[in-house]
This record gives sequence, C-alpha cells and structure tokens, in this order.
Amino acid sequence: MNELLKTIIKNNRHWTSEGKVATYIPGLSNANPDALGICVTNLNGDEYCAGDFDTKFTVQSISKVVTLLLAILDQGKDKVFSKVGMEPTADAFNSMLTLENRNSHRPINPMINAGAIVTVSMVAGGSCDEAFNRILEFTRKITGNPEININESVYLSEKETGNRNRALAYFMKSTGAIEGNVEEVLDVYFRQCSIEATCKDIARIGAMLANDGILPWSGEEVVPKSVARIVKSIMATCGMYDASGKFAVHIGIPAKSGVGGGILASVPGKMGIGVLGPALDSIGNSIGGIKVLEELSRDMDLSIF
Ligand code: GLN
Repeated sequence: MNELLKTIIKNNRHWTSEGKVATYIPGLSNANPDALGICVTNLNGDEYCAGDFDTKFTVQSISKVVTLLLAILDQGKDKVFSKVGMEPTADAFNSMLTLENRNSHRPINPMINAGAIVTVSMVAGGSCDEAFNRILEFTRKITGNPEININESVYLSEKETGNRNRALAYFMKSTGAIEGNVEEVLDVYFRQCSIEATCKDIARIGAMLANDGILPWSGEEVVPKSVARIVKSIMATCGMYDASGKFAVHIGIPAKSGVGGGILASVPGKMGIGVLGPALDSIGNSIGGIKVLEELSRDMDLSIF
C-alpha cells in the first residue's frame, strides 16, 4: 500500500503546477503550491502515507463536516434540516445567488458557506468560546489527536478580510435564518476553518465515518450510524461544491474539500483518506488532490456507485 501511494503521488505531482494557492484569505497565500500528500487509514486503524503527508494545513471547509456532525448530535436531524437544506448546488461555495432568489430562510446545503454558517449557529454552547471549544474537542477526539489547534494567523487574517461571509451572515440574520449574534457565529466559523491538521488527521475522520461512526483505533462509537450515513450522503452530493457531480462520476467517493488544499474522503466499509495539495482549481478544490484520489479510486476500485 505504501508503495502504491508513493507511485500515485509521483505520477500526479505535476498537476500542482496547473493550480493556484488561495490568496483571498491572505494567511493562506504562503502555502507551498508544490506540496502533495496522502494518508489512508483502514478500519483496523492501520495507516499508510506518502508525499507531504505530515505538512500542516488549515482544514477550512472540511470543518463543515465536523460541525454538521455536532449540530445533528446537539439538535437532531429534523431541527438541523429545517434550517439548512440538503440539495446540491451549481453555484460557487461563497455564492449569494440562490440565497437571495429562492432560499432566504434556508440555505441550500451545509457544505456551502451560507449553510455552514447556519449550521455552526446550531452547535450548542452558552457562549461562542464554549461552542468553539466543543468543536475543537470533538475534532481532537475524532482525529485521535489531542494536539489539534487553530492557526492563529490564518484565523485573524480571515476574520479581518472575510467580508463575503459577513455579507452572507448579515443577510441571513435579516431573513431569520440565523438566530443570535452574527459576529459571534462568524467568529466560531472563522475559528473552525482555521483548525490545523495533517492528512493523517483527516484520514482518521474519514475512517470513523467509513466505520459507521466508530473510531477504528479504539472501538468507541462517537456518532450513531444513522448520523454518519447522513453526513456521508451530503459529502457525496455536495462536498466538492459545484464540482460534486463530476467528482461522483470520476471518483465516486464521499468527500469534502477545503481551500487550504485538503480533501477528506470516506470509502464506506473500507477506509478514510486524507489528501493535501494547496494548489487549487478554479472552483476551489485541490487540483493535485483530485487527481490523486482519481488514480487511487481507479486502482483500488473504490467508487461506491
Ligand atoms: N474559510 C473559507 C471561507 O469561508 C472556507 C471556504 C472553503 O474552504 N471553500 O471562505
């Protein structure tokens, strides 16, 4: 397995030169555009890694998977999906279009920014610090890594420049989609996006989901099977934004990308996969990461469809 992963990284590293590191959050612009890494965790907890697998990156939108799990655990699926939809979208991840046209009270899904901001507002906690600490502790638990923390400079950089997200959030406050204090909800959202991890950490989240909510390395159930199933379905249909359909056709694995260049993938009953490649395509997905997953899926016949 290690040899296969090494070969796949070698075969696909050239793709990184065709993408660009995200710069709209200034703190992300220093990432190494040539980095490419992968880690696979199977359901026995065995780990196989290659390339730049121990390079740290901010999880960005991958955190939307974690807060969706937590919001469903806190509020139940009926309450969560009364406030956010579960349909794919053909618009960009930070789009306002459908929000204003059709879905002003209920953003279309929890994987686009508007839906994720509503989702984070449903994570329980008496204050924004408490809500964020619950997200951080939950992330540490499902990665088996107690050292996970945020990258302070990426957090401050997005907090300072995140005006598109601020616009989405204030618009949703005006329609009643967001209850509570908008700046506090945004602060938790910016902090969760700045959580720093490696391919190994996100592969473990994928393995937990693949294992129906049970941590492979300890046997502990952290999420009921029914909730793991909901989240994998939403990853499969919405996780790669407006490239989710194409990703399903070519790769066929529930996955969630982030503009930090990470992709969290979960092959039900088989394995979790974490990949990193900070150079992005025009949609905001890791260009090399997608190619690596495509080759792995083809070689190991991993498509769920
Ligand atoms: N923090 C980023 C933002 O809100 C997350 C987006 C992403 O990873 N696609 O813009």
